[in-house]
Amino acid sequence: MSDCIFCQIAKGEVPARVVYEDDEVVAFEDINPQVPVHVLVIPRQHYNDIGDDVPEALLGHLLAVAARVAQEKGVAETGYRLLTNIGEDGRQTVGHLHMHVLGGAKMPIRMGPAD
Ligand code: AMP
Ligand code: ZN
Repeated sequence: MSDCIFCQIAKGEVPARVVYEDDEVVAFEDINPQVPVHVLVIPRQHYNDIGDDVPEALLGHLLAVAARVAQEKGVAETGYRLLTNIGEDGRQTVGHLHMHVLGGAKMPIRMGPAD
């Protein structure tokens, strides 16, 4: 999708601080980090979200790369959170599947609805 910001990052048309890339996925620093380590892992190909008929091998690869990024960022030992937001209630703001890798701080326990 030509107007998708993450497709543009995947093609190198928009700059990003890339921390890992291969033929299938790209991982880059979130532009507005919520915690000390905040990296996004995306497939190069456009999918709206995790339910968009994404091949299971690609989903597995996204997770494996997320774990590798956590290791390389030095948070694998202390722990981290993987998160993918879907749709409006999930508060997805960029409509290209992405996995957040969040670490370097204690995550909130509460995962229920917003107040
Ligand atoms: P979500 O709310 O799950 O859709 O998350 C989208 C994430 O993308 C947010 O954390 C944004 O800060 C991040 N983001 C948006 N535009 C860019 C960009 N150009 N480069 C890096 N991260 C971005
Ligand atoms: Zn896209």
